[in-house]
Amino acid sequence: MGGSRPTWRDRYPDEVTCVRCLEVKDTAHLDRLLWCDTCRRRARERASWWGWLGGVLFGGAVAAYIWFAIRPSTLVIGGWVGTVLMAVWLGAKASREIIYGAMRFRNRRAVEAVPPGGDEDAPGR
Ligand SMILES: [Zn+2]
Repeated sequence: MGGSRPTWRDRYPDEVTCVRCLEVKDTAHLDRLLWCDTCRRRARERASWWGWLGGVLFGGAVAAYIWFAIRPSTLVIGGWVGTVLMAVWLGAKASREIIYGAMRFRNRRAVEAVPPGGDEDAPGR
């Protein structure tokens, strides 16, 4: 890769509009999908929030399985708590990647854009 081969950046002028916040940025701050640094960070934060939710659900399922299927004795409950926490953590990590991937894939336009003069509720879509 590299060398003198034209890259995707060459197709664009130096300043490009980010598709998510509709702010004009230097191409150095945009990636192939024309998301700027800020929007990628926001998307990651949002994905990570939903990821934790997914992780908690997954951990809950694991906890229910352990509780009802394995029926641990109270002596080893600490070990199972560790297992469930691990499941939550791994579940959160996995769902975060899936959600972030889905956001990248759908690539909805202007989701971070602030409508000029408008406040919160946009007209229904
Ligand atoms: Zn942006």
